[in-house]
Amino acid sequence: MNLKYKGLCAKLISNLVKKGISDKKVLEAISLTPRHLLIDPVFRDKFAYQDTAFPIGENQTISQPYTVAFQTELLNITRGDKVLEIGTGSGYQTAVLCELGAKVFSIERHKSLFQSAKLFLSKNNYRAQLFFGDGFIGKKVFAPFDSIIVTCGAPYIPQDLKDQIKIGGRLVIPVGKGEVQQMMLIQRLSEKDYKETIFGNFKFVPMLKNLNNINNK
Ligand code: SAH
Repeated sequence: MNLKYKGLCAKLISNLVKKGISDKKVLEAISLTPRHLLIDPVFRDKFAYQDTAFPIGENQTISQPYTVAFQTELLNITRGDKVLEIGTGSGYQTAVLCELGAKVFSIERHKSLFQSAKLFLSKNNYRAQLFFGDGFIGKKVFAPFDSIIVTCGAPYIPQDLKDQIKIGGRLVIPVGKGEVQQMMLIQRLSEKDYKETIFGNFKFVPMLKNLNNINNK
């Protein structure tokens, strides 16, 4: 990362610390991820490391860094963990997960975003497996996952995603039908038992059903 963006990113990190993010590994991963490459050059200097969401096309947004940090903290990733992400979007969260040493699988329902995220990640040597498909059904062939992160506002907790959590693993998902969702952590304690914890309110773009009947079972 060049010096100018390094400096702006360092300011973002201290801002995240002020807002309550404390996991050193998460902060380091964010400090290594080149968010500026995902922001239109016209807006890059002003917005790349500002703590706000930003449009990425198709009416979608790259998540606010605080939200990425908050969800990533809840995932509690250890190097080598198998992680499923729903909503690849720009590929920013995917890159942060790769920086933490996770083996990432990510699903996106918009073809153009799927393609541009794929390009960004491969150009920057992030080795994630990306899929164009429907996040509601997860990715059964690669299950179970140590953790699953949903980066769009889910109307409910999809059963397929719960089924694909490893026992001892976790799902982090913003749940709510309106503009605002509650961040939920679902821990799988055994084959049948799950523990749910609710965190604060967040605003995500909605998790939507299948476009053009795409299927990724
Ligand atoms: N993690 C992204 C956030 C993008 S916004 C980032 O860091 O940039 C959420 C994304 O979820 C959008 O790109 C949207 O198209 C996608 N999405 C919404 N519903 C989906 C579904 N059912 N399956 C897969 N992706 C979905």
